[in-house]
Amino acid sequence: MKPTVTTPFSMKITSVESSKLPSVDFNNLSFGTVFTDHMLVCNCSNGKWQTPEIMPYGPLNIEPSARVFHYGQAVFEGMKAYKDNDDKVWLFRPDENFKRLNKSAERLAMPEVPESVFFEGLKTLLNLDKKWIKKGKGNSLYIRPFIIADEPVISASPSLNYKFMIILSPASAYYSGEVRVLIAEKYSRAADGGIGFAKAAGNYAAQFYPTSLANKEGYQQVIWTDANSHSYLEEAGTMNVFFRINDTLITAPNNDRILDGITRKSVIQLAKDNNINIEVRPIKVTELISAAKDGTLKEIFGAGTAAVINPILGFKHSDFKHELPKLEKPYASFFKEKLNNIQYNLTEDKHQWRYLVTP
Ligand SMILES: *Cc1c(COP(=O)(O)O)cnc(C)c1O
Repeated sequence: MKPTVTTPFSMKITSVESSKLPSVDFNNLSFGTVFTDHMLVCNCSNGKWQTPEIMPYGPLNIEPSARVFHYGQAVFEGMKAYKDNDDKVWLFRPDENFKRLNKSAERLAMPEVPESVFFEGLKTLLNLDKKWIKKGKGNSLYIRPFIIADEPVISASPSLNYKFMIILSPASAYYSGEVRVLIAEKYSRAADGGIGFAKAAGNYAAQFYPTSLANKEGYQQVIWTDANSHSYLEEAGTMNVFFRINDTLITAPNNDRILDGITRKSVIQLAKDNNINIEVRPIKVTELISAAKDGTLKEIFGAGTAAVINPILGFKHSDFKHELPKLEKPYASFFKEKLNNIQYNLTEDKHQWRYLVTP
């Protein structure tokens, strides 16, 4: 390993002797399986954040009694870095990820990460590993910031010590295959007063089993409904959902069961900018089914950082099965194009969503 240096912002950087980059096959990337050369680690002891460190990506040394393993005190974020035609690296609305990480942390009784650690840490890490970001639409570097409770104590109470970390994984055009969804009638991912709005690790573990049952029936994902009555459509596995009835786009309002997605709020803004009628209101399963029956249901799509916009081809609820029509000009493609053009610095950015990492 190369000698450790301390930067002006006071960060310890230990870089790798030789990069793993030449050994990576960028034509066969499976999402989330390959990680770059470096990672960021910042410890918090007794409420005090220590000096952030960038070091070679590798295993952690954590005691088995660390609270995260027993009580799931863990939150995360998902973002992407994009490279434009001039080799500049950009993020998309990273301030929103930063705010949401700390909102999630607060709900799980974890300390908030300082803005300087998040942004200076992320920028320094991205600069070190920027060769891992390939140009061209669809290519990106997936960024996974997260916080875990690592105090080695197994009493059921909040930890005194935490680790904030950032790891990076190269991603190519995300093709999730054909997606059909099962609308939840029995299971729920979140409840009123719970942690559904937080990007908390446990929310995802809770979805795996019901989703695996849906998979067995040939549905790749579940659309979650409200836990009380299972009569309102809320969101999909890791995506918010939009429904197009005639030419109106409808999405559920945020509440404490729904993740406040950045792609979702960007689609809502772009719809307004482009004179597409958008309604943010509760939408009932019965409304969806009658629109499917009378032919006014045109599209369903998911919105989230990984796939940006993911068209949904069909759904099932109880005994009712429906296939969506194939459209000439779907809204799904329209929004994906608009968002990608902003993300890859191919168009003007009137809301200042782009954030320059490297000049
Ligand atoms: C991350 C996530 C989303 C999408 O949020 P983005 O900020 O658009 O990536 C939607 N729903 C859930 C449950 C999520 O975890």
